[in-house]
Order: sequence, then structure tokens, then C-alpha cells
Amino acid sequence: MIIVMEPNATAEQIDHAARQVEALGMRAHVIRGTERTVIAAIGEKREQAKEALETAPGVAAVMPILAPYKVASREVKSEPTQVTAGSLVLGAGVVGVIAGPCSVESEEQILATARAVKEAGATALRGGAFKPRTSPYSFQGLKEDGLKLLAMARQETQLAVVTEVVATEDVELVAQYADVLQVGARNMQNYRLLEAVGAAGKPVLLKRGPSATMDEFLLAAEYILNAGNPQVILCERGIRTFETHTRYTLPLASVPYLHRKTHLPVVVDPSHGTGHAYLVADMAAAAIAAGADGLIVEVHPDPERALSDGYQSLNFAQFHAMMQRCRRIAQALDLNLRTLCDARRPGGLRALQPTT
Ligand code: PEP
Ligand code: MN
Repeated sequence: MIIVMEPNATAEQIDHAARQVEALGMRAHVIRGTERTVIAAIGEKREQAKEALETAPGVAAVMPILAPYKVASREVKSEPTQVTAGSLVLGAGVVGVIAGPCSVESEEQILATARAVKEAGATALRGGAFKPRTSPYSFQGLKEDGLKLLAMARQETQLAVVTEVVATEDVELVAQYADVLQVGARNMQNYRLLEAVGAAGKPVLLKRGPSATMDEFLLAAEYILNAGNPQVILCERGIRTFETHTRYTLPLASVPYLHRKTHLPVVVDPSHGTGHAYLVADMAAAAIAAGADGLIVEVHPDPERALSDGYQSLNFAQFHAMMQRCRRIAQALDLNLRTLCDARRPGGLRALQPTT
């Protein structure tokens, strides 16, 4: 249920209503909006709970939440959520670009990439240290040594680090180095991992499972939110279909659909979504045009020699050209994507007002 407070409800009235929710055996998530506060009551609803809450002082209305996911839904929070992790700001009208290699391979590779993507206007560095590979014989990542190299690149460039955690037992270690914990597509429904990253106190980038429906995707996000972590970024990275001309099928309708259903920011991964470097810039541009709050793009100094996903990685010149194109689209649409253009200016990112 959602308990909608009167616009002038006092702090005591909000506290009282939240305590009532807990006394009725549900959990209370208090969401303070610019106009009014709402309380999401999560859990099994007891008989007469609605009536009991309706009589509490300061309560304007008590309504059922229709979506299967609760805390993630727009019904509970109508304003868009903005996620901030160091240099990376995403959502509520601000666009962020996360770029870097599929895997961290060496000091030289990650430092050169960090410098190049920053110069082109990226606002965060990606790079896998723990890699979930289809084949056990493929390169599995440099593990903690890779995390140390990412921290070194952050130290030099000030770019926030986004890196994947593949197992619950690694969450603590990865969280020591990462600014954003990435949960990969293969782990979208690893519920213990979702709870662990939810408790880790770092923003989470959750990738859509290749066969997950939108409801399953949002329910996975709900696990992280329910663990007390409001900083969740959703990532559309393509799904498995009968089509084989691209690695996955990248459904960009997910972006406006998710914006309608959830307040969480949505980023698009045109690298895994297509599996071909020559398709990445076009789909990045299309994602920005569809209203994405950000992009996550694979970039490598020498894609032909990459230890993973080289065929879908952009080289530095291609990434630079992609960014210029995305910037022009943003300007044409008058999106608050201007931050993408401003990212390189001294003073850093400029947070803009949310669009409604
Ligand atoms: C990645 O980002 O390198 C990755 C493994 O992505 P996904 O989980 O979407 O396959
Ligand atoms: Mn990859």
C-alpha cells in the first residue's frame, strides 16, 4: 500500500504513520518528495490495515500499489531518482557515460583507456576484474590486481570506477575499490548476490538478464532497494531472441517503458546489445534519442588484441566520434544531456533540474 501524506503533514505525523505501518506487521519506506511525503508499506497486508492507516493524522489517502514491484515503482515515487558516485551522475535529467575495456588487462591498457575516455567526455571508467565468461577456458580477469589497477586509474583521472562483482563472497572486496558495483546479466536473478550488493552501501548497476521480462528485471532491482540501497541504475544490455545477426537484440523501447514504470535511472549498453563495434555508435545515439540516462560502452586501445569482447569494443577515435555525435543529438533534443558536453569543463558536472 502507499500512504500519501497531506502536503503540510508534520514530521511527527509522518513518523507516527510509519510506526503504525510497522505495528501492522509491514515495513515502512518513507519517500520524501518535493510536494509531499509518501510511505510505501511493504509486506503482507493485515485486515483493516487500510482503515487503520486512513484515520492517522496527516494521512491524505491510502492506496494499493498495483505493480508487483513496490519501492521501484513510479506509483510510490513519481520523481526520477538521481544516482551519484563520484564523477558519475545519472538520472533526473543528467546523463552519464561509463566507458572502458571489457576486462582490465594491464596498467598500460587501463591508464591509456581512462585518459582517452575522460578526454572524450566519459564520466566514469568501466572495466571487469572478475569476469563471468561463458567458457571456463576464457580469460577470467585479473581479480584483485585488476581492482588495484582500476583504483590507480581513478587516482589519476578522478573518474568513478564501475566494475562487476560475480559472487556474494567477493562483494566486500570489490566494494573496497569500486564506486559502482555492477551485477552482470547472468547474475540478475542471483537473489543472494542482489541482497549482498544492496547491503554494501555502494550504488549498483543492474544489468538485465538476457531472458528476463521487465517485471522480473524490476523485481530484481526491488531486492537491492529492499536491502536499504536506493542507488540502483538499471541497464538494458539486450536480450536473447531468434535473431543471430547481432549478439543480442537491443530493445530500446525498454528505455521509455522503464521511465514510465520506475523512477530509477536507465542506461543502455550498445556494446553487448549488438556485439559488433560498427553498430555501437548508431545504437548509442539511438539510446540517447530514446531518453536514456546514460550509456555503458566498451572501449579498448587495440580492440583486435583485447582479451575479451574486442569485436564489440571501440577504439579511442571511434569512441571520440561517438561522443561527438551523442552530444549533437542531446543538443538537438534540448535534453539536459548538456552535462555530457560540460563534463570536460573545469568545475566538473553540473546537475540540472529534473524534467517532468
Ligand atoms: C560486461 O559488462 O562486460 C558484461 C559481462 O556484461 P553482461 O553482464 O551484460 O553480459
Ligand atoms: Mn564485455
